[in-house]
Amino acid sequence: MASTYPVHLVLVGPPGAGKGTQAAQLESQFGLKQISSGDLFRENLKNQTELGELARTYIDRGELVPDNVTIAMVEDRIQRPDCAKGVIFDGFPRTLEQASALDEMLALQDSEIQLAPALVVSDDVIIDRMTGRRVCRNCGAVYHMCYNPPKAEGVCDICGGELYQRSDDLPETVRNRLFVYYKQTSPLIGYYYAKGLLVRVNADQPIGAVSREMVAAVRTVIDK
Ligand code: ADP
Ligand code: ADP
Ligand code: ZN
Repeated sequence: MASTYPVHLVLVGPPGAGKGTQAAQLESQFGLKQISSGDLFRENLKNQTELGELARTYIDRGELVPDNVTIAMVEDRIQRPDCAKGVIFDGFPRTLEQASALDEMLALQDSEIQLAPALVVSDDVIIDRMTGRRVCRNCGAVYHMCYNPPKAEGVCDICGGELYQRSDDLPETVRNRLFVYYKQTSPLIGYYYAKGLLVRVNADQPIGAVSREMVAAVRTVIDK
């Protein structure tokens, strides 16, 4: 059944599964807005806001930022006009508490989640993806040293910005983030399954093959 806009998608999956990479492609293909809670926190870190300083302590340990803070940040962000056609939620929700808060905030806009694609990928692949990830300091574009390298080493293809390795992508933190995922975030799989919204995508393939599966899944709810 094709929906009319706004369309809201939640990308579920462990850190490093490829949510951000896929969200960016869906954004340009379907005209939806990618909202990444991790990117919002990193913007706040860069701008040294109070929220950024609070988030830093959690992010550095690979723990989740408290629900009340995270929910308020996302709720504020989705009021902006660039979200009018719909949102691809990337990295949010990450707890059952956040998931029900999201349902409530969308209900206030007479909207709801139409689909929750889950990126399924093995643990060793995840570690490899996170440790090889590089991010543009200026525009946030995501690369991988082996699987999605920039044209010139250390330089963003899009804006020429400098690429860096996130401090939470160092091996010690990566293992804790995976642990936190299984404990606190993986119950979302059941949450969206019970609502009939879950669709599993094999994320253990090259970026283009994952994209094709994602686009086919999203086409079941967007007629485009
Ligand atoms: P990844 O893309 O590897 O999944 P993110 O950029 O989404 O990582 O998140 C980086 C960090 O920001 C998380 O480890 C966590 O500390 C914090 N964070 C991001 N989103 C959330 C959220 N929805 N709830 C709580 N903390 C979050
Ligand atoms: P997430 O948002 O789920 O944390 P990202 O989209 O940031 O994941 O991807 C994590 C890392 O893996 C990045 O370096 C990205 O370039 C790379 N990557 C994403 N998808 C794939 C894929 N299908 N195959 C190989 N590498 C990938
Ligand atoms: Zn850039």
